[in-house]
Amino acid sequence: RTALERGEFHLVYQPVIDAGSSAVKSFEALLRWSNPEIGEVPPSKFITIAEETGLIVRIGEWVLRTALEEATHWPRDVSIAVNISPLQLQEPSFVMKLVSALSQSGIDAKRVELEITETVFLHINPMTQKVLRQIQGLGVRLAIDDFGAGYSSLGYLRDTNFDTIKIDRSFIQAISSDDPESGAIIKAVVALAGSLGMKTVAEGVETEEQLEMVRALGCDRIQGYFFSDPLPGAKVRPLLARG
Ligand code: C2E
Ligand code: CA
Ligand code: CA
Repeated sequence: RTALERGEFHLVYQPVIDAGSSAVKSFEALLRWSNPEIGEVPPSKFITIAEETGLIVRIGEWVLRTALEEATHWPRDVSIAVNISPLQLQEPSFVMKLVSALSQSGIDAKRVELEITETVFLHINPMTQKVLRQIQGLGVRLAIDDFGAGYSSLGYLRDTNFDTIKIDRSFIQAISSDDPESGAIIKAVVALAGSLGMKTVAEGVETEEQLEMVRALGCDRIQGYFFSDPLPGAKVRPLLARG
């Protein structure tokens, strides 16, 4: 609670690259917390707590506004992806907050993608379905995050209309450890996404071998330490300005 008041949060941005051209397509905003007493706290530690206490709603709103504003300093063909907790979607005022963040920043909604983990489908109901449709009605895209890691169900792919599938990094990291099953699953997810008109992102690509594999398996986009760590906004701007 005090971290929000004291401004101890900041965002870093990790590029997502086109598998064919290697051009930077977008950046994913990732939250960081540095506290003067305890130092850097990884999101894996504090996000769960923020979700349990409901604070993620306020923190998430700050993330959304900050990320959208930052992206207005980038070229128009570079998009911004923001992680949204399923709890935020359950807030009746979420769409209003999104509209407000869009208009306050002035960013084109088509440059914005929201990433939601598949756990959202555990709580899917007519209300959340409607919220998802309203978000897309604004022109904002939706991505399923960490696909395959948790409660993947083909039923929700039928009932919703997501734009992007982000394949969980556990599958990408397994292909280098000689695991033919992971490769087969990635290939099947790419085929499924293709026939549903969705794009795929391979997450957590760390090595050249993994890069070649996910390219060969047909993933559209690539994200991971092989290309870049998440970077502070102040480093992204000059990078993009240099082209
Ligand atoms: P995520 O959405 O799956 O984000 C990708 C995570 O993978 C990031 O961890 C990123 O730093 C890490 N990563 C990127 N490339 C590689 C790689 O090549 N290898 C490996 N091993 N890891 C890589 P990070 O920043 O620690 O975030 C962890 C999770 O915390 C995120 O996973 C996301 O679920 C959550 N998170 C982060 N920021 C936000 C936020 O603003 N809102 C919400 N609701 N959740 C957030
Ligand atoms: Ca994500
Ligand atoms: Ca992910």
